[in-house]
Amino acid sequence: MKTWFVEDAGGGCQAFGEVVVLVCEETGEIYSARVPVTWNNKMSWEELVCQLMVELMQQAGATKEDQYLVCSGNIFHTYHKWLSEQGYNWQTHKMDGLAHDAAESSFHQMVVEAGFPEHIKLIERDYRSYYTDIEKWVSLHPERKKQYWKDREVRKKPALPRYLLKSTMNKARVCYGCNAVIPPFSPVVELKFRKDGRKFRYFFHPECCPVQPLKSTLHQIEVAWQEQTLTGILVPCPEEVPCAICDQLLEPGKKAFYAYHKNELICGHPECFKGTP
Ligand SMILES: [Zn+2]
Ligand SMILES: [Zn+2]
Repeated sequence: MKTWFVEDAGGGCQAFGEVVVLVCEETGEIYSARVPVTWNNKMSWEELVCQLMVELMQQAGATKEDQYLVCSGNIFHTYHKWLSEQGYNWQTHKMDGLAHDAAESSFHQMVVEAGFPEHIKLIERDYRSYYTDIEKWVSLHPERKKQYWKDREVRKKPALPRYLLKSTMNKARVCYGCNAVIPPFSPVVELKFRKDGRKFRYFFHPECCPVQPLKSTLHQIEVAWQEQTLTGILVPCPEEVPCAICDQLLEPGKKAFYAYHKNELICGHPECFKGTP
């Protein structure tokens, strides 16, 4: 079991994106990721950060047996929720020590890579002077400002954009990623959000979605079918159709199994499929 510390840096600076780190003090392991200055509005700031953290955990081989001590900042709100939903052992923590230093030095390194003088450093936690120096340096050139000034608007977007893994039910949808049709009774990611009082809804193939959805109502199962394993979904049956196995009608509203075999939609009672060898 390892104890991982999760911390961010650079949030108070008007320039550059934040950095997030995943740090183990016992082993000295440090994993870090950079939040971009701006991005398209498909994802909220907190969701983007959550996704970066999930990627860092994968890189680090961090598991559910490990313990997580996480900074309580807003930036990690969606990540906190995700940790709880996934059943991780975690709590918020006032960060100090290696995680804090690692986050600060990752931020500094990013700023220096952009050309900021290396010797101007954070001294005795005087963030205001340090950030003001960085902001002044970035503001000096219009090009720099365009490239490195933090987009506050995109960060303010509430975590409303919601990606949900579900099924298309009996409707075909068009993938917003690749424009191909997603047939009925297929896994799909739905994105819903409100912007300027209007409602938006988009669909993606799971593999075309820019985000790993944090929520799912999709129930996928595998069954045996013609000496193959068929992966399909369990959803409430929307209409009376005969079961592919017993030929009895499926009862609307009851859970039914749907899958594609050679582009042909197969459906039936889940019990009937379980009986197939
Ligand atoms: Zn697609
Ligand atoms: Zn049946």
